[in-house]
Amino acid sequence: MESYPQDQSEFDALLASEEACRAYLASIRWPAGFVCPRCAQPKAWVKTTGVWECVHCGTQTSLTAGTLFQDTRSPLRVWFQAIWYITGQKYGASALGLQRVLGLGSYHTAWAWLHRLRRAMVRPGRDRLHGVVQVDETFWGSEQAGKRGRGAAGKTLILVAVEHTGRKLGRLRLLRIPDAAGETLIPAVQDLVAPGSTVETDGWAGYGGLAKSGYQHQVLRTEAIEDLLPQVHLVVALVKRWLLGTHQGGIQVSHLEYYLDEYTFRFNRRTSHSRGLLFRRVLEYAVQVDPLRESDLRAKSTQ
Ligand SMILES: [Zn+2]
Repeated sequence: MESYPQDQSEFDALLASEEACRAYLASIRWPAGFVCPRCAQPKAWVKTTGVWECVHCGTQTSLTAGTLFQDTRSPLRVWFQAIWYITGQKYGASALGLQRVLGLGSYHTAWAWLHRLRRAMVRPGRDRLHGVVQVDETFWGSEQAGKRGRGAAGKTLILVAVEHTGRKLGRLRLLRIPDAAGETLIPAVQDLVAPGSTVETDGWAGYGGLAKSGYQHQVLRTEAIEDLLPQVHLVVALVKRWLLGTHQGGIQVSHLEYYLDEYTFRFNRRTSHSRGLLFRRVLEYAVQVDPLRESDLRAKSTQ
């Protein structure tokens, strides 16, 4: 049974202390209960440092080791408040908003937190799209559309894949790609879409190998002026509006993947109205992703 806070008052009541936050995270990290990694015994002393010490062999296991929260100097309670804030923001969280809510001293700190948390918005090993999937590429950060294929150097390309049943949109995947050559596009589609699915594209030669790669490839052609790929183009318009609106266009290309992940997380859960469930999902992903160190962030932000 998945438990999560239903609203603000439950959040405040259930996760009021560091101890309660640790117990909650432990229930997510070890859903079947803690088991010692050395002797497989289930009994442990829970230390105030967040360490589980096996009562049989004394092996110490850190609750946060190997998770997004590894090496953090901040209490879990503050991380939980940050995640709660983010999942309550319908149109995307801003570093400034997070700084205010948590009373963080610097904007940079808030920004770094937000970037860490965005990594927990992608389910590790997530399912690929299936059914009927419309696929196209779009440019980001450049007014003039350049050549496709290998001539796209210097521009940022995003591969967009969206499931649909007629006009009804399903799940979305966004992937930054270096170019739109066939050698890039085919493996990228394989990453995002399960074999056997119907993949709809325009007539671009780069998609020519899809049929040989196990897909039902549907090349859409029209002589009319109406939009060839309406579902995927609607999503492209939404993503771009969100990137420009929520983030005021102030996005470094080196960080684009993080923003795409946040958008995908929100889009794929757009019909879920439970803030508590989103909160729980972010924590579930957070215990599965590698820790991100401050030095990684610095390296990224100077790119
Ligand atoms: Zn043990």
